[in-house]
Amino acid sequence: MDRKAKIVATIGPSCQDEAMLTRLIEAGMDVARLNFSHGSHEDHAKWIASIRMLSKKLNKPITILQDLQGPKMRVGWLPKEGILLKAGQTVQLVSVEQAPAADYPLNNGDSIVIPLEIPDFSNSLRIGKRILLDDGNLELVITAVKSGEVDTQVVLGGLLTSHKGINFPGIHLDIPGFTEKDAGDLAFGLQQGIDVLAISFVRTAQDIEKVRRKIMELAPDKQSLPIIAKLELPEAIENIHEIIQVVDGVMVARGDLAVETSPAQVPVLQKEIIQLANRYAKTVITATQMLDSMIHNPRPTRAEASDVANAIFDGTDAVMLSGETASGSYPLESVQMMAQIVDEAESHYNEWGCVNAIPDEPNRDDAISMTRAARELAHDRNVSAIAVFTQTGKTALLMSKARPQVPILAFTPDPVTFNRMGLYWGVTSFLVPFAHTVEGMISIVEAGILASSPIQPGQQVIVLYGFPIGTYRPPNIALLHTINENKDTAS
Ligand code: PEP
Repeated sequence: MDRKAKIVATIGPSCQDEAMLTRLIEAGMDVARLNFSHGSHEDHAKWIASIRMLSKKLNKPITILQDLQGPKMRVGWLPKEGILLKAGQTVQLVSVEQAPAADYPLNNGDSIVIPLEIPDFSNSLRIGKRILLDDGNLELVITAVKSGEVDTQVVLGGLLTSHKGINFPGIHLDIPGFTEKDAGDLAFGLQQGIDVLAISFVRTAQDIEKVRRKIMELAPDKQSLPIIAKLELPEAIENIHEIIQVVDGVMVARGDLAVETSPAQVPVLQKEIIQLANRYAKTVITATQMLDSMIHNPRPTRAEASDVANAIFDGTDAVMLSGETASGSYPLESVQMMAQIVDEAESHYNEWGCVNAIPDEPNRDDAISMTRAARELAHDRNVSAIAVFTQTGKTALLMSKARPQVPILAFTPDPVTFNRMGLYWGVTSFLVPFAHTVEGMISIVEAGILASSPIQPGQQVIVLYGFPIGTYRPPNIALLHTINENKDTAS
């Protein structure tokens, strides 16, 4: 069975050598995520070169997703062994902007001092508000606010080590959404030819527009670069209807989302975000802790297996691995296990899945109507695939959102489109010469099908394309073709 939902794997020290990257691609990695919260430009450039080389060698398109760190707030330098915070203790948080030196004083009278690598944040804070550290595992409550310093008391203690994340739930900090580091990383990513960009800690549609303007300024020829908004702040959820209209996709970034809201709210938010993304035909990735225990164990927990399967049933386009592949002990096993769980869930997609991502409502879009018609025809005739010819990838995306039961083969002459389609549910992409005639298209489709499986007598496919051929227009023809038909009648 061909897997339909795509697997995003985060690249890091555990999978950086070519042998392991090869195994991950063979096991089902469709999208390589480069997390710019970690690693140097030199590391990322090396990974990009290896992935491009292996993708060619293994004849499998791999979409490269650059994930910008955004204004992630972190604890600064602490001793290697960390600091044990105990409930009731007094802790002073001090803004240091730059990483402090190793001899930074870590106490002030009875208070423990924790340096934070962020500009002065104190004027946004109020006594009684909560501050969370290390993914919400440690909790402080604010007891006094001074310029550049905040006094707190530990509510939930634990060991705190350097550079752990810090969250201020429900507090709007006046910190720029797109940082200087992001601008430098974006310039690097554009120059390296990344396929898709993810932006962290998005709050409003204006945040996305700002990044689009930056892309225009840095590389006007890349203005169509797909942008994914990572939804992890309550403000992004409040503004989701505006955000969804200006992005190409969204990520349910459950890590920070759970800290900023509450773990209890995440399952419902996940369903709502996926449904909305599908309704607007935007790609959606479900991310974070999907197989978290596989960072240390060769098998997932039963709850994790259910989580992956349920994201598939919710209608996600892709599921993501983070630490499991980037820094875990079982990167290959994690991809293999994810592929197995997805396969199993998809074999029950008709019973439990979101079978129709874009609702069947009247619409004014030719491409949506044609892709729906192709889905119905595919079902009636029991065809083996739907082939689409696409310049920008839009027809492939809409066909994917119609959630047909058969594979979607997307043929494009554009290498940029070819590499982007790795995120599209159910789509296998092919880079082909431009076809000037219907006969030319049919030969391309037959060669594409033959490359993956022997053709059966009477096997039919649907070919979806725009007429006149060669014009940039939505598809308006769905052709039912019996493979090898002309050859059979000739012989
Ligand atoms: C998340 O918070 O779930 C997430 C994907 O973001 P990060 O880049 O911090 O892993």
